Amino acid sequence: MELFACTHCASALTRPVSQVRFPPYARHQVGNGLRLSDLMDAGTYAVDPEPSGPPWRSWEDLAEGEAEARGYYAPVPHHLSDGPPGRTVLAPADVTGTTLIPGSAAGYCCGITGQDGPNLACARCGHPVGAREDDCSLWQAVWLEPAAVRRVPAGPRPPVADWTDLVHDRSDVPPVGADGRWNDRSCQEIGTTLVDLIVAADGSPVAFDHAGAATVFDHALRHYQPGTDGPVKRCALLGPGRPLTARHPELALVPRHPQTDLPWPTPPDVTAVPLDLAVWRHLAFPHTRPAVRVRGALRAEIDRDDPLSPGRRGGVWFDSWLIRDLLARSPAVRRPAVRAAYRAGYAGWL
Ligand SMILES: [Zn+2]
Ligand SMILES: [Zn+2]
Repeated sequence: MELFACTHCASALTRPVSQVRFPPYARHQVGNGLRLSDLMDAGTYAVDPEPSGPPWRSWEDLAEGEAEARGYYAPVPHHLSDGPPGRTVLAPADVTGTTLIPGSAAGYCCGITGQDGPNLACARCGHPVGAREDDCSLWQAVWLEPAAVRRVPAGPRPPVADWTDLVHDRSDVPPVGADGRWNDRSCQEIGTTLVDLIVAADGSPVAFDHAGAATVFDHALRHYQPGTDGPVKRCALLGPGRPLTARHPELALVPRHPQTDLPWPTPPDVTAVPLDLAVWRHLAFPHTRPAVRVRGALRAEIDRDDPLSPGRRGGVWFDSWLIRDLLARSPAVRRPAVRAAYRAGYAGWL
């Protein structure tokens, strides 16, 4: 584990935290309204490998070959940052040694942002170190500036959990709320997996073996692959507790390990499409929910809705901007079928 300390005075700014994958949707908004969605789990941090912040350049200003060198294989409608890479993002609860900088908390209506520069300073020496963001449509998070902080060892990493323990772990926030809707982070994870599915399908129709997976992905996949033909690719939901059956599918939605970032291993002839563990677990085992002690009998209408019927789990908010951006960043966008999906993203809203 590591903690982050102020470069200037060396005092600790965070609790000990473990590094996890940088969420590919970290810089995308989460719809309008007061959603207050967390980007990071407490106890974790991620480092943005890409430049962020000003100065900005438009797509047209890039030199020949520069877009590809920066990981873009198709044009994007937004500006690209020429700022420093390596910003760190954490859950606000893990940031302990900072204080808000009076007068520098930019924001639109419901909270603050770091759009005008740092709004957090080291509580000991007063040097600006990063920004707390919690305005509407933004992820709840703290971003630390690479030059202002130092990563310091703070003890051994927690042991890597085995898959069986992970499947039975119910300590995290359920991905589907009491109203039957997927939360923002799950929606963005599902959108990220949709892009991997588009690339893996490569224009072929996909038949899902699992009803819940079909409810979540089928409609969106058809939107991005409007003119599919050729042999159908079967897609199973595989992972711990859901082993491969005799008939091999071409594709498999498998859980991604939250600590190692590795997908659940599949046989070499099955293309793995990684899915967020919490989303995968909810699809694979929708009826195993934490036990809740209830006095007396459940009221009839609650009894009927608990657990939620699979039909009510279909409501996923797909972020078209995220999907287009991830398609533009995949070298597969050069292939005709994936290019068509990228164009479909511009042709209409899902
Ligand atoms: Zn300091
Ligand atoms: Zn607002």
